[in-house]
Amino acid sequence: MALDPSRTVAELRELRELTGDADGAQRVAWTDTWERAREWLRGKLDGIRADETVDAAGNQWFTLRGDSERALLIGGHLDSVPNGGWLDGALNVVAGAEVLRRFASEGTPPLTVRLVNWADEEGARFGRSLFGSSAAAGSMADQDEIRERTDSNGIRWVNALAEHGVDLDRALDARAELEGAAAYLELHIEQGPVLEAMDLPLGVVLGTFGVERHQVTFRGQAAHAGSTPMDKRRDALAGAAKLELEIREVAKRTGGGAVCTMGGVVTKPGIVTSVVETAECVLDQRHLDAVTLASMLAEAKDASERFARDEGVKVEWSRIWNIDPILFDAELIELADESIREVAGTSHRLPSGPLHDAAEVSRAGVPTVMLFVQSLRGLSHTKLEDTKPEHLELSVQALDRLASKTLARLTE
Ligand SMILES: [Zn+2]
Repeated sequence: MALDPSRTVAELRELRELTGDADGAQRVAWTDTWERAREWLRGKLDGIRADETVDAAGNQWFTLRGDSERALLIGGHLDSVPNGGWLDGALNVVAGAEVLRRFASEGTPPLTVRLVNWADEEGARFGRSLFGSSAAAGSMADQDEIRERTDSNGIRWVNALAEHGVDLDRALDARAELEGAAAYLELHIEQGPVLEAMDLPLGVVLGTFGVERHQVTFRGQAAHAGSTPMDKRRDALAGAAKLELEIREVAKRTGGGAVCTMGGVVTKPGIVTSVVETAECVLDQRHLDAVTLASMLAEAKDASERFARDEGVKVEWSRIWNIDPILFDAELIELADESIREVAGTSHRLPSGPLHDAAEVSRAGVPTVMLFVQSLRGLSHTKLEDTKPEHLELSVQALDRLASKTLARLTE
């Protein structure tokens, strides 16, 4: 059976009908709708020689045994955010199913080929992303917090997990699944505007951004808006405002995809008749290179101290969260580039701003690469999320080529 990329598009539409409504995709992990999507996938792969298993973290695997136990993994996630898009996550699973069918029709592959549908990539219901992949990667270390988490209706996560056959105490047993994994491939929609702006259907992902997230608090003095002359003020918001403009320059000067975002500022007392006493800012900085990210952070800190001195206020920094950049495998990046050029003529290399299951797998030491396909208007996590059908078909072809090239390289 030859690869049929148009079938992937038809199946994605079928899945949208089955698990979405007028507001978008409703495949939130650990719900009946999500379970229906998993059953649907099971049905789609029923006729081929792949064995289905669900691991200790709820990840759904389809294994096509090869001559060797070493395995090529292709993965994605069928879960979505509430009112989500039809492609985020699902594209990689459904395209992966097509590639698996193609391998199955050609007899026993030299290596084992496995499709994985990761459980709860989005973290939409309980507020913690990458559940299944972080368990399989062995990086999950927050079981105590997970135990305490509830959804907006007060339902405990542990109970929701148990309803779907997952015992949190055993979730890390999923690590066994990555033993023998020789490579991991993931196709995903870009969820950003870069490929569309370049008029290119496909790109190779170099890795996922490192992130530095901080609360930056400027402290001045509240004073009457009428009686305090302009040169006698210690205005905390002035420091925050200058920093907001400066971080844009930091990102511009740094380049290489650097982004800095001041996502919010809370001022106190926050009334029209007072100079601002405290301005609490939340700052997010991202880059693919760890050293560069550290210097972006240092630049922002220096600037904040300079602005604080200028305005006669104080500034304090406290870290909210951070993660190191994760770089994908150099050899697989080359193969991915080659695959894209063969099906689409031109390739492009770009970093990923959002995290993906691929980052967890890569962190676990499995050589990993991702392909991005263009997103229309850069939108995702909304029912407006879309990609042209011809680009979806090209992406299935590129994934298939990449899988074949990777298999050939691993058996050399
Ligand atoms: Zn996704």
